[in-house]
Amino acid sequence: MTNPPLTPVLTANWGQKASWTLPAYLDQGGYRALYTAVTMDPDEIVNLVKESGLRGRGGAGFPTGMKWGFLPPPGDKPRYLVVNADESEPGTCKDIPLMMASPHTLVEGVIISAYAIRARQAFIYVRGEVLHVIRRLQQAVREAYEAGYLGRNILGTGFDLDVVVHAGAGAYICGEETALLDSLEGRRGQPRLRPPFPAVAGLYASPTVINNVESIASVPGIVKRGAEWFSSMGTEKSKGHVIYSLSGHVRRPGQYEGPLGITLRELLDLAGGIRPGHELKFWTPGGSSTPMLTKEHLDVPLDYEGMMSVGSMLGTRALQIFDDTTCVVRAVLRWTEFYKHESCGKCTPCREGTWWLVQILQRLERGEGSEDDLELLLDLCDNIGGRSFCALADGAIAPIKSSIQHFRDEYIQHFENGGCPFDPMAATLFA
Ligand code: NAD
Repeated sequence: MTNPPLTPVLTANWGQKASWTLPAYLDQGGYRALYTAVTMDPDEIVNLVKESGLRGRGGAGFPTGMKWGFLPPPGDKPRYLVVNADESEPGTCKDIPLMMASPHTLVEGVIISAYAIRARQAFIYVRGEVLHVIRRLQQAVREAYEAGYLGRNILGTGFDLDVVVHAGAGAYICGEETALLDSLEGRRGQPRLRPPFPAVAGLYASPTVINNVESIASVPGIVKRGAEWFSSMGTEKSKGHVIYSLSGHVRRPGQYEGPLGITLRELLDLAGGIRPGHELKFWTPGGSSTPMLTKEHLDVPLDYEGMMSVGSMLGTRALQIFDDTTCVVRAVLRWTEFYKHESCGKCTPCREGTWWLVQILQRLERGEGSEDDLELLLDLCDNIGGRSFCALADGAIAPIKSSIQHFRDEYIQHFENGGCPFDPMAATLFA
C-alpha cells in the first residue's frame, strides 16, 4: 500500500543541527509569526484560532479558540496563560521531544497566545522529572528575552510579557489543570471542583487559560499560514496536524506527525509494522486512560469522532502497541498499579477504589481469582466511574472495562489455568 502523507509542521525541524537554538529557529523562519501577530488586533487572533478548528492537544480536544473566548471581559484582575507541560499519561511522548527539539516553537506560541488573550504573565509548568527539558526551555526563554521577544515593550509595540518556567515535583495528578494551578500556587497538587473553570477563576482566582504544549506550539503556524491551511488537514470536526507517539511492539517506535483521521494501519505501515513473526493483539489510542482497541479497529480514523464511534477516546494519541506475546491481564494490572500510586487521595472512590482494583487484579493475574471476581471488578468500576473529583479514576477503569469486553476469555483462562497462561512456569493450559 502507499504511505499516507505525513504533515511535518511541529516536527519539521527536529532533525536539523542545533534545532533548539535561537539562530537555527530564526533560519527556519522562526518568530516571523510573532511579527505578524503584533500587527493584528488580539481578538483577530482569537477568531483566527477559532476558525482554524484547533482543538486541545492535551487529550480532551476542547476547542482552543472557544476556551480563549470564555475569558471574562478585561477587568481589575490580571489574566494568566499557563502551559501544561506536565506530560505524564502512560505512553505519551510528544510534548517532551517537541520541547527538546524545538523549544522556541513553544515560546513563540506562548508570546502570540498571551498577546491574543491579553495576558502579561505566562507560566510553563513542566513535569519535574525531565530536568533536561526544563534546562532547555529556560535557555530558550533566556534567548527570547535577550532578543527582545519577551520582557518590556516587545518589538516596540508596548506589549509586555514575562514567562516563568516552573518545575513540578513529579506527580501525575499535577497534569490535571486545577491540581496544576494549586501546585503552581505552592500548595499540594489536588484537583479543584469545576465549575468555575480556570477561564473564569484560575491561577490566584484570576481568569486563566491553560493549554497543552502542542496546542500552543500550533498557534504560530496558524498565524503564519492561515486558518484555512490548518483546517485543510484532518477530518470534518477534527482539524489539523497532530503528533502521534507510537511505542511498544513496533519496528520503528517514535513520533509521527500526520493529519487527524489517519488510521493505525497507516501509521503502522510508516513505523515498519509489528515486530516480525507476531500479530497485533491490542492497542491504546490515547494512553492507558482511553479504552483499549484490537485489530478490528485498525481502520477506524484516529480522530475524536472515530474513536468515540468504537467506544474509545482519542486522548493524547499515545498509541501503545501490544503483540500476541502480551498478557492483557498483566498489562492492565501494571497500569492500575500506576493509577493507585498516582491517586492524590482527595476523593474516596479514587483513593480506595484504585487500591481495591489492584487487589482483585493481582488475584486474577496469579490465577487465584474466580468468575465472581470478574463481576466484582466490573461492579467496582461502575461505582468509581463518574463519581470522582477528576478524570484520573475514569482513566483507571478504562483499560479494565475494555480489556474484559475484548478479552474476557483470557481472564477466565487465568483462573482455569491456575496461573498466567503467558508464564511458562505457571501455564498448564497451553502445555
Ligand atoms: P475536560 O473535557 O473536562 O476539559 C478540557 C478543557 O476544556 C479544560 O481546559 C477545561 O477547563 C475546558 N473546559 C471544559 N468545559 C468548559 C466550560 N464549560 N467552560 C470553560 N472551559 C471549559 O477534560 P480534563 O478533565 O481537563 O482532561 C481530561 C483529559 O486529559 C483526558 O482526555 C486525557 O486524555 C487527558 N490527559 C492527558 C495527559 C497528558 O499527559 N497529556 C495525562 C492525563 C490525562
